[in-house]
Amino acid sequence: MGTEKLERLKEQLKILGLREIQEIFEEEAEKAIKTKLGYIGYLSKLVEEETLAKTDRSINRRIQTAKFPWTKTLEEFDFSFQPSINEEEILKLADLSFVDKKENILLLGPPGVGKTHLAIGLGVKACMARYRVLFQSADDIVGYLYASLVDSTTGKKLDALSRLHLLVIDELGYLPMDPKKANLFFQLVSKRYEVGSIILTSNRSFDEWGSIFGDEVIAAAIIDRLVHHSHIFNINGRSFRVKDKLGKTHEKKCL
Ligand code: ADP
Ligand code: MG
Repeated sequence: MGTEKLERLKEQLKILGLREIQEIFEEEAEKAIKTKLGYIGYLSKLVEEETLAKTDRSINRRIQTAKFPWTKTLEEFDFSFQPSINEEEILKLADLSFVDKKENILLLGPPGVGKTHLAIGLGVKACMARYRVLFQSADDIVGYLYASLVDSTTGKKLDALSRLHLLVIDELGYLPMDPKKANLFFQLVSKRYEVGSIILTSNRSFDEWGSIFGDEVIAAAIIDRLVHHSHIFNINGRSFRVKDKLGKTHEKKCL
């Protein structure tokens, strides 16, 4: 199909309010050819997806496909425990305009301060608003791209990842990356730059990113793209995980 006709089709689907079909029909057409789905099979797949997107069933499915390791909501977050986080700012982000504006959120700080909880809370909100969301640890997503080098599917995988509305990358910095992996991470961030939002959590401050990626230049290029349109939270409070334990130790000491 010619580019002009394709653009016209997209425009018409938009006018008809068939947002889901508009987004997936090309990818589904490719799949349909591969699986020899047939015209009616293809059409019913598109209509099924559009119907799902317009019903509540789609929310649960979106939460499932987002692959959160556990689900927690923003409402369950105790902001009084973590005063270094600006509650108002986080709650404002929950209106999800950052997703429409393709902005990023960077949650930086030591273990246990609630970075993953906040990332999941915002991710769940995005699922509820019917955005396409994926949660991955930094190591897993880089490993996934690294594996794709073997069968030269990296481009396709990066394209698919760039079509998500929100990509949550958790725990950047636990393991250092070799140059190939650092380069794949750079490609991922570049591909999503001004195209789709990233929420990233890390226990390392920016000046330590050179050692994560094994190269100051690539670290600077990654930071540059991530930070350009972003909301950065430097969380420097106590760990929620050890709060009760520390409390108990303290009580014991006092006895
Ligand atoms: P991080 O990702 O910063 O290491 P997590 O988000 O995994 O921390 O938090 C560790 C645990 O503590 C999770 O179960 C999380 O739900 C909980 N938690 C952390 N901070 C808070 C908070 N301020 N209010 C409620 N629960 C919290
Ligand atoms: Mg975490």
